[in-house]
Amino acid sequence: MIRFDGVTKKYPDGTVAVDDLSLTAPTGKITVLVGPSGCGKTTSLRMINRMIEPTSGLISLDGQDTGRMNEAQLRRGIGYVIQHAGLFPHRTVVDNVGTVPRLLGWDKKETLERSRELLDRVGLAPELADRYPSQLSGGQQQRVGVARALAADPPVMLMDEPFSAVDPVVRDQLQDVFLDLQSELGKTIVFVTHDIDEAIKLGDQVAVLRVGGKLAQISDPAYLLAH
Ligand code: ADP
Ligand code: ADP
Repeated sequence: MIRFDGVTKKYPDGTVAVDDLSLTAPTGKITVLVGPSGCGKTTSLRMINRMIEPTSGLISLDGQDTGRMNEAQLRRGIGYVIQHAGLFPHRTVVDNVGTVPRLLGWDKKETLERSRELLDRVGLAPELADRYPSQLSGGQQQRVGVARALAADPPVMLMDEPFSAVDPVVRDQLQDVFLDLQSELGKTIVFVTHDIDEAIKLGDQVAVLRVGGKLAQISDPAYLLAH
């Protein structure tokens, strides 16, 4: 379970990106943060794994202050997926997937096997595993991004508009693969999107933010659909 307790982020230029945010992302569920551009979604997400430090307030993971977790704990425990996959261009697909296990010093052969298995799970054709990212389509790269984030089997996944940059048909496929995987893996997920339809489709719980970084409401997707 991830908890935000009165979390505020004020950037040095005075912009208040997140304003006194309190919410809980339950274990094994998908919590979606939705709202217009600039409402503080990315800032909120990146404070969880401390890529951004909150100005005040507390963020905890299973009761532990993430501000007191070390880099290795944050990397191992929290997978991170971004919009344009962010794959390393000079590494093959399968080596990209093995990035975090390698950093953790896992056995090479085991890492390779696990990486290939994960690529299969996200629906990437096996013959693409030895290509370089630039040789893949945007949608294929996002599949690799998801596989890479899952490689060390983190209990938590942070996902920042992972499916927003691909065309609608591919987006739909990616969302379905993701929901399938999640029904099996049961990760604790915080998922950021500006797309309310995506929020309703994927979220077990949807938190709506508004510009200025305040929480407008947090509810069941069924409730949002009806209102
Ligand atoms: P979202 O992800 O919802 O688009 P962000 O978290 O990226 O929102 O940004 C929230 C607000 O903080 C915006 O007004 C944005 O311009 C501002 N912001 C983001 N990063 C910085 C920064 N490094 N310095 C100053 N302001 C920033
Ligand atoms: P290497 O030294 O192998 O080149 P880096 O240390 O430069 O790797 O970067 C590892 C990459 O792993 C990061 O740039 C980021 O894209 C990704 N990554 C995986 N998990 C996390 C995480 N929890 N927080 C931040 N980045 C992560």
